[in-house]
Amino acid sequence: MEKFDYMAKNGYEQLIYFYDKTTGLKGITCIHDTTLGPALGGTRIWNYQNEEEAVLDALRLARGMTYKNAAAGLNLGGGKTVLIGDADQCKSEAYFRALGRYVQTLNGRYITAEDVNTSTKDMEYVSMETKYVVGLEGKSGNPSPITALGAFHGIRAALKYKFNNDDISKYSFAVQGAGQTGYFLINYLLEAKAKKIYFSEINPRHIERMHREHPEVEFVKPDSLFGLNVDVVVPCALGAILNDTTIPQIKAKIIAGTANNALADENKHGRMIKDLGILYAPDFVINAGGVINVYHELHNYNREEVIKTVEKIYDRLLDIFKIADRDNISTQEAAKKFAEERMQTIHQLHSNYIPR
Ligand code: NAD
Repeated sequence: MEKFDYMAKNGYEQLIYFYDKTTGLKGITCIHDTTLGPALGGTRIWNYQNEEEAVLDALRLARGMTYKNAAAGLNLGGGKTVLIGDADQCKSEAYFRALGRYVQTLNGRYITAEDVNTSTKDMEYVSMETKYVVGLEGKSGNPSPITALGAFHGIRAALKYKFNNDDISKYSFAVQGAGQTGYFLINYLLEAKAKKIYFSEINPRHIERMHREHPEVEFVKPDSLFGLNVDVVVPCALGAILNDTTIPQIKAKIIAGTANNALADENKHGRMIKDLGILYAPDFVINAGGVINVYHELHNYNREEVIKTVEKIYDRLLDIFKIADRDNISTQEAAKKFAEERMQTIHQLHSNYIPR
């Protein structure tokens, strides 16, 4: 891959390699775009096959964060860090403190957080060396309940747009995955008196928990979930779950859940869903509750403020659905357009000189 060509084509700002000789820390930070503010995105540890694979992942994930943060209405750009290694072997206090020192060298252009194979505990070590880290223990806490709350409001927005009525008690739901986010989302749907909820799971502990706490939520085998006669399919498990096999089975008129990268092929499957008359709530908009939550750590963290900001996912999705209809594009494309327009507008706004 010609990296500068790739960066120029996709609007990247910076790609940084770092290696710590004491701990063997090997990492890459990518800053995609800082039009709206400092780049924020988590640090992931992965046993990449080679450097090229790690760079591509950093580039792809950083760009995704730009769109997510912009569409969430946050004053943040997009970035990401990937660390090359085996998470079971490489983690230590020194390893994460070394990471913190590299994050600090960027002087606030990039803010990190936990991600795949890193935890809030690891971020505590990072915070010993830099102030540019969020998602710390005792601050914004577990992001999953707030991500689920954002998805709950996103589902209501989709119901409003599709059926002109967002009263959850009138509708039935099929939830894939009752893990961190799925579990809390089912609880919100139950509180709102959902007419019927089905769920599928592969983890026996999570199946048992649901049976014990909410026996009225009906278990279905994973391969029959998508064909159920329900109003809303709610993906809360894996990426790439909306694909050539699952989409034709779907009878629901709405797909809205927490799963990241739910569309196997963004363009192809986004359009396929649109052509079937199904309304899809774009993943990076509906699941932004977690990043909204950590964003508030940068100011004085206040749970009520977070909840108010997360509720705005409702109106934001309505705007995006309208753009999709107006321009006859998929909702995923409309969400990207929405994010790009916000970045362009704020960029232009900042072109006026103000003496400070
Ligand atoms: P999780 O691992 O806690 O839950 C996922 C659940 O899905 C697990 O219980 C797993 O057993 C189940 N599962 C896996 N394969 C399945 C299958 N084929 N059929 C049915 N169930 C299956 O993860 P999570 O934190 O709830 O995240 C779920 C999705 O939401 C992921 O795509 C994640 O990236 C995304 N997301 C999560 C957050 C957050 O705050 N946790 C924020 C944004 C996006």
